[in-house]
Amino acid sequence: MDKNVRICIVGGGPAGLSAGMYLEKKGYENYTILERLDRVGGKCWSPTYNGRRYEMGAIMGVPSYYAVHDVEEFCGITHDGPKLNRNYKNAEGKVIEPFEPKKNILKIPRLLKMKKQIKKLGEILETKYKGYDVNGHRGVAEGRYDGFSQASAKREPIKGENPNLKDLALPFSEFCKLNGVELTQDVWIGPYTSFGYGYFDEIPAGYVLKYLDFQTTMNFVKVNLWTWKNGTQYIWEQLNDHLLHPARLNSKIEKVERKDGKVFVTVNGKVEEYDKIIVTAPLYIPNKRADGQVGMVEYFDAREDEKELFSKIDYERYDVLAVETKPEDHPEISYYVFDNMTKERLGHLMVYYRRWKDTKDQVITTYALRKHKDTKEIPYDECRKMVLDDLKTMKNPASNVVNEWSVYYFPHVFSKDYAAGWYDKVEAMQDKYDTFYAGEIMSFGDMDETAEYSRELVERFF
Ligand SMILES: Cc1cc2nc3c(=O)[nH]c(=O)nc-3n(C[C@H](O)[C@H](O)[C@H](O)COP(=O)(O)OP(=O)(O)OC[C@H]3O[C@@H](n4cnc5c(N)ncnc54)[C@H](O)[C@@H]3O)c2cc1C
Repeated sequence: MDKNVRICIVGGGPAGLSAGMYLEKKGYENYTILERLDRVGGKCWSPTYNGRRYEMGAIMGVPSYYAVHDVEEFCGITHDGPKLNRNYKNAEGKVIEPFEPKKNILKIPRLLKMKKQIKKLGEILETKYKGYDVNGHRGVAEGRYDGFSQASAKREPIKGENPNLKDLALPFSEFCKLNGVELTQDVWIGPYTSFGYGYFDEIPAGYVLKYLDFQTTMNFVKVNLWTWKNGTQYIWEQLNDHLLHPARLNSKIEKVERKDGKVFVTVNGKVEEYDKIIVTAPLYIPNKRADGQVGMVEYFDAREDEKELFSKIDYERYDVLAVETKPEDHPEISYYVFDNMTKERLGHLMVYYRRWKDTKDQVITTYALRKHKDTKEIPYDECRKMVLDDLKTMKNPASNVVNEWSVYYFPHVFSKDYAAGWYDKVEAMQDKYDTFYAGEIMSFGDMDETAEYSRELVERFF
């Protein structure tokens, strides 16, 4: 593509900013990033409390976050945050050690079986499901893999046929049953459901395993994780500062018209002309949201195929509270509440996070999901009350809520559409209307997968 092509990027989160970085690295300097808010980072939001930054959004990474590492190198920063550690509680607030055989004598046979199944899953992922872990979902529904290997920072291009990959469209619980590895869910659930990515009986295995590939899951098990002292938002603030063209904040896009090979974007009342547009903001939001975010189909001259495909997208209702506690009620560490990670306990507290080891002068953040595909959505206020009651049960009651949000989280499609080739249909539309689709829906809702997808998009099309 002509290096002077005028590119508009919608969204100043990890996907949009890294699209800017990778374009720049490839010699495309004529880009503009439009961000609707007065800050960059999107769901990496790290506000300040008494001089230190805490996390309302993304918290951690793993050593295989190669795209995030590209950003760190580009900006000369590193993952310098506090070490993550956690314990486990049951729904009654009692501390438990679910994976410690000595503390669970009766569960020893199950734990041994689980260990065997983890090994088996590791093996079949490398053999039967070869190609499962490339970024994005291209070809999966057709039994192909086509992308860049995530096995090392080199990210070699790989491509091949593997009809078994079609199994990735199954809900993860069914995928596990099919392969006789049901008990692995006990381990995968911690960094999956409690991190807001839905329940294993509703979410296609493709999402679960592309995010929690074997290596990443083992990093979670060993707590071999990255954090950032100034918060994950700092990564993207730094990137923004290092770009030739930092994001234009407070950009209200009123209209996007694509005609005669040009893209006309009406932003804050003025029409701007571009040649191409990359959308990293939500493509479709099925209901009205209090924060005013809408999907691109609402402000673009959306075509029938865009409307039809994007209307299949759903997202998670994932709520975060930041609370103060009295010093005597402060938890000594972060906790996973395993009992609350089932759909029967929808709306309950699944994790609470204590970030700093050395002080009680900090907020604790809480996490709950309030929607399952087959269940009525729990209203925001009801869920909030349940979480605050759960904190009392945990003997860490909140004295005050200082911050809260309900996030447009983890956009995805369900098994039927995944199996019917939703991703291949969208991939076939890349550039059709001088428009590229990126951001979470195209890969997975974490910082690295989205930044990596932007890298690949630039590799493939620019
Ligand atoms: C509570 C929570 C915990 C998380 N934990 C982790 C974690 O530990 N590790 C991890 O890797 N990831 C984590 N994530 C996920 C991670 O933050 C997201 O996957 C990542 O930020 C997605 O990047 P994105 O650029 O695709 O989307 P976003 O971060 O959502 O950014 C999209 C941007 O587009 C902007 N925008 C929206 N509409 C418009 C419009 N019309 N015009 C212009 N701009 C628009 C938004 O304001 C936003 O800035 C977490 C997220 C949350 C909320």
